Amino acid sequence: MNCTPVTMTAEHRPTVTRRQALRTAVALGCATLALAPARGVMASGAGTTRLIDFHTHLTHGLAAQELGAITAPDLLHWMDAHDIAQAVVLPLVSPEAFWYPITSEHVLTATAPHRDRLIPFCAIDPRTLGTHLPTQQEVVDLAKRYIDAGAKGVGEHKPQLAIDDPLSMRLYEACAEVRLPVLFHLDNFANMDLPGLPGLARVLTEFPELVMIAHGKGWWASIAGGVRQVDLQVGFPRGAVAPGGAVDALLTAHKNLYADLSSSGAHALLRDKEFGAKFLERWSDRLLFGTDYYLKSQVDFDQFTLFDELGASKEIRRKVGCENARQVLRLTEASNS
Ligand SMILES: [Zn+2]
Repeated sequence: MNCTPVTMTAEHRPTVTRRQALRTAVALGCATLALAPARGVMASGAGTTRLIDFHTHLTHGLAAQELGAITAPDLLHWMDAHDIAQAVVLPLVSPEAFWYPITSEHVLTATAPHRDRLIPFCAIDPRTLGTHLPTQQEVVDLAKRYIDAGAKGVGEHKPQLAIDDPLSMRLYEACAEVRLPVLFHLDNFANMDLPGLPGLARVLTEFPELVMIAHGKGWWASIAGGVRQVDLQVGFPRGAVAPGGAVDALLTAHKNLYADLSSSGAHALLRDKEFGAKFLERWSDRLLFGTDYYLKSQVDFDQFTLFDELGASKEIRRKVGCENARQVLRLTEASNS
């Protein structure tokens, strides 16, 4: 997530209405209004696909009570209001990632009764590899235990380390071995990189089989060329997108790279709609619908109007709205097995 301070939520515009959300969902070709409880993993048959939100959080609020807590029933209720069938739920374990840790164990336990709709990821702070998981086998074993408990990926990966820090490289290696995709946040405080994102390029080159899902202001600022280090921390840059951005270059060079449209992602496409519409079409096989819902007071989601604003085709809406997610999460594979 982009850890937007609570005070910044004052920028949020009026609530997306249920009617508006439904229009979006229907237009996406991914959703139906009736969200009868599914049985097991999402069915793969025709007509059953609905919106998948690739980026949400559960929270629990003793450490920061003013933020409130989002329980699994709360999240499901919010998903119903926005016609989202399934959501990836991301722990936040690094101290830089959130106001307080949201552990993998919490996410796995809280989602357990709702696995037809809530898809848990696990998170491992790579610094624990330097202290408590000194061998690669121990990292792999931990990841396997999380898989056994239901985890479908690793993230939100958000430590205050370089994106290609040796400890993170060991974590990526383990994820590649057990086939867990990694969703990461990149800015000047987490998974830090230089303008042009050469560190990320190194990771993607080193682990071509590892699916990596990009997110965060530093990543999305890099949709434009000519960004400086300081620009990697600007959450919602405005203005026309200058050519030569690292995002296009990296997506072109690395087929294992995806990006979710949560938080600053939708804005990155809307800041220059002419560029954004072509970008959405160009990368319709690699973009994933997502919101970064983590705060009950969040009411402003550009994601619900993005496709209309960019005039996206039905096919693009379906791919980005759900099909790509199913592929990355191997839901089709699972439901066919
Ligand atoms: Zn997030």
